[in-house]
Amino acid sequence: MTRLAVIGTGVAGLAVAIRAAKLGFEVHAFEQASIPGGKIGEFIQDGFRFDMGPSLFTLPELLDELLEEEFRFDYRKLDVITNYFYEDGTEIKAYASPNKIAEELQGKTGIEKQKVIDYLNEAKFIYKTTAPVFLFNSVHRLRDILTFSNLKRIFSLPRLHPFSTLHQLNKKKFSDERIVQFFGRYATYNGSDPYRAPGTFQVISHLEHNLGAYFPKNGMRSIIKSLFDQAKKLGVNFHFNSKVRQVLSDQKEVKGILVNDEKIDFEVVISDVDIYRFYSDLLPDKKRLNQLKQAERSTSAFIFYWGMNKKFPQLDLHNIFFSKNYREEFDSLFEKKQMYSDPTVYVFISSKENEEDSPKGKENWFVMVNAPENVGQNWKEEAFKLRRRIVEKINRMLGENIESQILFQQILDPVKIEKNTSSFGGALYGPSSNSRFSAFNRHPNFHRCIKGLYFVGGSVHPGGGIPLCLSSAKIVEKMIKKYANH
Ligand SMILES: Cc1cc2nc3c(=O)[nH]c(=O)nc-3n(C[C@H](O)[C@H](O)[C@H](O)COP(=O)(O)OP(=O)(O)OC[C@H]3O[C@@H](n4cnc5c(N)ncnc54)[C@H](O)[C@@H]3O)c2cc1C
Repeated sequence: MTRLAVIGTGVAGLAVAIRAAKLGFEVHAFEQASIPGGKIGEFIQDGFRFDMGPSLFTLPELLDELLEEEFRFDYRKLDVITNYFYEDGTEIKAYASPNKIAEELQGKTGIEKQKVIDYLNEAKFIYKTTAPVFLFNSVHRLRDILTFSNLKRIFSLPRLHPFSTLHQLNKKKFSDERIVQFFGRYATYNGSDPYRAPGTFQVISHLEHNLGAYFPKNGMRSIIKSLFDQAKKLGVNFHFNSKVRQVLSDQKEVKGILVNDEKIDFEVVISDVDIYRFYSDLLPDKKRLNQLKQAERSTSAFIFYWGMNKKFPQLDLHNIFFSKNYREEFDSLFEKKQMYSDPTVYVFISSKENEEDSPKGKENWFVMVNAPENVGQNWKEEAFKLRRRIVEKINRMLGENIESQILFQQILDPVKIEKNTSSFGGALYGPSSNSRFSAFNRHPNFHRCIKGLYFVGGSVHPGGGIPLCLSSAKIVEKMIKKYANH
């Protein structure tokens, strides 16, 4: 059996371990932490359970296809995906149905319903045109992109809006600032800036409003539990508390890895480690590192986990309290690298779906704002100011006094995100996708010189977020097939 190592057991590492085991490899997965999951963590305190990282779940079929019946988990399609609150008092329910969201936006802003439907149809067209090329395929090997069907897609280029920003596109389509902000927010789904990310990101609205968003019955952590159980059943050997120090090669072929001062031979190595950390620690390469350092990082996050002493019927599973000045917010995050004084606040309450996630009559609040990458800001001071600003904002917008309802608090800041998962700068989605060339600039899923060395995860192609991480595993599966059963 060909021996294959996976370094890191984030969602992408687990997915590729499953795929490799199914191909017949002898798979060993090494994880520096004591449990699998990387950014998809959870904790329990005083009867409250919190998903620590991702909360939005789309394209569940990418998980289903990895799991045998006994490991599948229940998830529910959401009718209302997110409740949006604006400072002017407008409240918008984002429905997972083109017709319903169009009616909602018409009712709340006066926009002609058909304009929203047309926008979502365009988003669907972008998805159908780009997904086979950019999401489920390598764009770094000519043989993968120079196919007849891809060449035909060139004629669709203007309809993919690569030459305008998402904001410019939305401004052209809608005169109402609230709708511009609403559809602009989708750039943040991979940690980008709507004022600089390409209009092609209109595609993300298709995932939510046409295809739908879901929530796992037992929370986001069930994704990891299912993948882990499935991998074990397929015979994947897990090694926890095992930090890989180095990838060994003769510059032409991968030879193995160094773990806790022990050299272990492998014919194939797949890294799920943040690509910057990979070239700084595991396979030092100054040139690569400089290129990666210069590339802009996606946003990080500042999260408060609050046990709340009562229920808030005006809130749902996902809630957004928009900032007044979105442009200033993103200038602050990307140009000034500072927390913004009036941040957009996201409140995720999993106990709205899973009652057992909090004690009776209480709620588990995951309160997140976008943060710049960690460049040495004083996060302790930020935490103090931020809590006050968030409490004031939610009080003002809901007409509540939430401070007195907070029973306890835990914090996840960019430094902790960086430390826990070795993500450079604490970026949630690796390098940012603010440039129209970002799809090509991301690191490929293979090493250009060293045979047998491959990459999955949010910091390489096709990008961050659970669906794209799962897709990276699918792309690598095609590339490693040739080594199976040698
Ligand atoms: C707060 C937050 C909110 C998010 N919200 C969403 C969301 O709503 N929806 C969504 O789809 N995505 C979301 N994301 C992004 C999503 O979580 C990530 O894109 C995805 O989980 C990344 O998975 P990964 O496999 O690339 O790597 P990671 O989860 O980063 O895992 C990498 C693993 O490698 C291990 N490792 C690193 N170095 C070594 C080494 N040398 N040796 C051994 N092990 C090593 C780490 O310990 C870690 O377990 C969010 C992320 C965060 C943090």
